[in-house]
This record gives sequence, C-alpha cells and structure tokens, in this order.
Amino acid sequence: MNGALLRRFTLGLLLLTLCVSEVSPQGFTGCPPCWRDASVMAGHGADPGDTRRLINVRIDSTFGNQTPANVWNATCAGTQTAGCSNVTGPSAIKMWDDVSTYYKLRLVQDSQGSDDATDIQITQDSSWDSKKGCSYSTQTGQRVPDPERPGATLLQISSRVIHLPPGSQNWSQEQLACILGHEMGHVLGLGDVKKGCSTSIMNQNHSGGRGCSTGCPRSQVSNGDVQSVNQQAGNRAGCNKGSKPVSRIVDGGYEDPNPYRYYPTCYYYYEAVDLWYCRWIMSDGTCHPEFPPEYLGTIYVLRDVRCY
Ligand SMILES: [Zn+2]
Repeated sequence: MNGALLRRFTLGLLLLTLCVSEVSPQGFTGCPPCWRDASVMAGHGADPGDTRRLINVRIDSTFGNQTPANVWNATCAGTQTAGCSNVTGPSAIKMWDDVSTYYKLRLVQDSQGSDDATDIQITQDSSWDSKKGCSYSTQTGQRVPDPERPGATLLQISSRVIHLPPGSQNWSQEQLACILGHEMGHVLGLGDVKKGCSTSIMNQNHSGGRGCSTGCPRSQVSNGDVQSVNQQAGNRAGCNKGSKPVSRIVDGGYEDPNPYRYYPTCYYYYEAVDLWYCRWIMSDGTCHPEFPPEYLGTIYVLRDVRCY
C-alpha cells in the first residue's frame, strides 16, 4: 500500500439514475414556462424603499483574484454596488432589476455579513465539454414531499450556481450579459423556450455553429419573463413545467438515454446523485476493500444546459 495514494476525508461520488414522472400542466399557460416543483428563493428581506425580495449574486474566485472586466460588467453594470454603478452597457442584474418581479438582485462579493449569504453563485468551470453547451445552471437540494401539491415532490433548493466555460471572460459584455441573464432566468424558476415568445430571455442561444462567443442578442427581459417569474414566486403549484424523466448518469459523465442535442433544442434534466464517503481512495479511483463506501445521502440537481 502506497501511503501517497491514499486520500482521506474525500467524498467519492457514485452516480445513479432517477426518473420522475411528468405531471400534467394546469393553470398557468405562460411562456416561458415556470417550474412548479422547484422551491422559491427566500432572499434577504425587502430592499429599503423597494418591496422586492433581495437576492445576492456573487462571482466566485474561479475567475481569478480580480474578476475579468467583461464578466464583472456583464453581471452588474448599472446597478448600485460599488464598482458597478459607474459602469455602462448591459448587465444581467440590471436586466432583471429593470422589470417588476418579486426579486431584486444585487452583487454581493463578500458573503460573510448577516444579509450577505450567496443566493446565486457565478463560477467558471476549469474543464468543459460540448455536452455542457455554452453555459448551464445547477440547482441542488433535497427532494421532499411538496406541501402545496399532495402526492408530488418538491426540489428544496439549497444551492444555485451558474456555470461558464473556460475562456468566457473573453466574450463581449453583451454576450455575457445575455447568457447570464438567461441562466438567472432558470435560477428564478423559468424553463427554456424552444419556440414561441420570441422576445423571452429564455430563448436559446442561436449562434449558427459559430460557437459560444456570439448569438445571444437580448439585452432586456420580456413581459412574459416577468409574468412567469412572478407566477413561480407567487403560486408555483400553478406553473406549467415539471421535471422530466431523465438521463442515466455514468461515472464521471452523463449519458443521455434520449439524446436530442440537435439545433436548436437544448436539454435539461434532473439528476439524483448518491454521495458516498470513501475513507481510502485507491489510485484507480475505487475505495480500499477494507473500507467500503459509506452512504451519506442523495442530493438532487436540476441542471440546465443550453446549446450552441
Ligand atoms: Zn437554458
């Protein structure tokens, strides 16, 4: 046994399948669709002088000690946070704050204060593959019985993260603002739009095969987006989108049993991820036989992937 190969106190992930049945739509028929089975953000009380619920956005350190200008500006230009108010051009937070939803977003980079806990984190993945599209968001939490929908379950979300690929700091502020605005729409409870409501921020990025640095032209949030966010925040049980049956997940990646990554379609799905604690991880990634994996629990992830 080579001691150098042992990694203690490390979580090993074993990945598993979950299928959740579709619930038929009722009530709300708006576009974009909103999630009936994703929990609503509690936020941090109302903004003084503004009745909206405060939501904290944070750009994490994956972008480096100093956030690249385009990422920073595309996130918060024109909003009240220091370093944002003096910056011009479109930004995702301003896009959402310019309209009347239940939420008021703000950039809060230091998450230590009493009202400063992060609600929406923006991160840059160190590696990326084409299955991830140009950006995606993950909403992670436990599945619990839904108090508002007897017999159904609710994803009680504890973490909301927007992911960007390596190199995204080189996209234009306009492109980044549109893409971040789209992902924030997911985090605020919206699903993708594949056809219809053409002005929605939830329409897919159409670059025509020219990659991720172009093709997201929107600089504002539509009335339909506002109605759908408010439907989700105010009465999510009436929303028109539920979970999909989903992908089988294989170790280290995702295998879509029904691959429909064809332009302009995107896919999104729930995953159930079983967490296992492995005391000794061997060099081949397995647990040492004397210390079999210990089951810690299952987390659930609502993951969106947008396409090229
Ligand atoms: Zn999307």
